[in-house]
Amino acid sequence: MPDIAGLRDELADIELQDDRALLKLKSRDFYWYSPILKKQLDGKTAELIARPRTEDEVLRILTACRARRVPVTVRGGGTGNYGQCVPLEGGVLLDMTAMAAPIAIVDGVVEVEAGAKMIDLDLWCRDQGWELKLWPSTKRTATIGGFVAGGGAGVGGISHGTMRERGNFHGARVATMQDPPRILDLEGQAANPVNRTYGTTGVLTRIKVPLTPAQAWRDVAIVFDDFTRASRFALELTHSDGIPKKMCAVFDSQLPPFFKGLADAVPAGKALVLCAITPAGMTALKELAAEHGGRVVAEQDAVAAERDPELTPFYEYCWNHTTLQVLKKDRGVTYLQCRMPFEDTLAALEAVRIPFRDEIWMHMECVRFGGRITMSALPVVRWTSAERIYEIIAAFEKHGIGIANPHVLTIEEGSNYRRVPGDQLGFKQNVDPLGLLNPGKMRDFTPPETAAA
Ligand SMILES: Cc1cc2nc3c(=O)[nH]c(=O)nc-3n(C[C@H](O)[C@H](O)[C@H](O)COP(=O)(O)OP(=O)(O)OC[C@H]3O[C@@H](n4cnc5c(N)ncnc54)[C@H](O)[C@@H]3O)c2cc1C
Repeated sequence: MPDIAGLRDELADIELQDDRALLKLKSRDFYWYSPILKKQLDGKTAELIARPRTEDEVLRILTACRARRVPVTVRGGGTGNYGQCVPLEGGVLLDMTAMAAPIAIVDGVVEVEAGAKMIDLDLWCRDQGWELKLWPSTKRTATIGGFVAGGGAGVGGISHGTMRERGNFHGARVATMQDPPRILDLEGQAANPVNRTYGTTGVLTRIKVPLTPAQAWRDVAIVFDDFTRASRFALELTHSDGIPKKMCAVFDSQLPPFFKGLADAVPAGKALVLCAITPAGMTALKELAAEHGGRVVAEQDAVAAERDPELTPFYEYCWNHTTLQVLKKDRGVTYLQCRMPFEDTLAALEAVRIPFRDEIWMHMECVRFGGRITMSALPVVRWTSAERIYEIIAAFEKHGIGIANPHVLTIEEGSNYRRVPGDQLGFKQNVDPLGLLNPGKMRDFTPPETAAA
């Protein structure tokens, strides 16, 4: 049995919580999107929550946990989709949300404490003329540390790629589980071992990300007679380098009725495109939409919408929010995460959309990967069984569609096209030789040192 009472005594001057309801709540994320993960993860809880305010407190917590062989699972906003912050072996949940201060912007690179909410960080940067290149659709609840360690794709991907694109993640300060725990300052490619490793390769205490000049984004909703036309328009918009854009998503006609706040604007049976464009791009956007038979049905100031808790910025219908919007009304669905081929993207899309149309509702996000344009698909899938999900995955893969499986727990199984180059396993062996950081999430890892206290 881990010595939690001893930990509590040693760390008494740090914020600790062990209320059972809170432990249960904070040990969860959005893994329940997947009925497969729900079965595996329901009931897994930490034994103590520690909420450090400084790097020194992080190091003291790690030192005390290391001495007692207590596992440590880091948590930001707890919005991950695959149980990334669910502690599989109990122990301490390290809540990073008290370390949330922006530090400085130097040469267009912001340095910030890792527990900062992305919306707060973006607004802070925006006041100085900058904005984040990328954010998840959970921008209003997720932390920057959680985005680097557990996400990395989303709004902005249409122009900037993902967090794995060279240059999008500048560096981090990382607390290790070595003997004794210490702080590493990693920059450039040297920071790859902590990029999307679910907190298994260190605790991110500070993050540096490059910014882009702030824009007055406008959310625009455009309807089309059918999904094919909507998709053609979306890809042409993505290729239109003269129209500055932050996102462009396409939804088949089954989905808009689930979008509270937009549903009334979208006539039944129409496909929908949601995009964010600069005011200077609006004329060109509307001309392009009209050429494809599209009609603008709603528009709003995107930045004002995200500042107002009563309003929904359109990105909260996009990315992994699409599935959530459906789940609010229909708990019988789940989802997939796919990357379409770069060549003949629309042919591959139609080859899977049409035969599965009764059980899969198509949702696409236009993206860049390595300078090339394609679409990520996050379709909503009617849940029947695990076997059926794997049949669908196999059918998609036959058409050259890559799958980042959201129904698995480990980095290796779930990542597919989402890994950065570098020896993440070797790095973990060095910084966490006892395997105490989020154990069970890096499949190929075996601790080089024995865990006996
Ligand atoms: C509705 C919905 C929409 C979403 N949309 C997107 C999207 O558009 N793009 C996207 O990429 N993801 C998306 N996600 C997933 C998730 O919201 C994001 O990845 C988000 O950035 C995670 O941040 P968080 O602070 O909530 O991290 P958490 O869920 O708290 O943690 C995520 C992982 O990172 C680790 N971690 C957290 N903080 C640290 C730290 N300081 N040091 C080391 N490890 C740490 C955790 O241990 C965990 O493994 C979505 C999820 C939901 C439920």
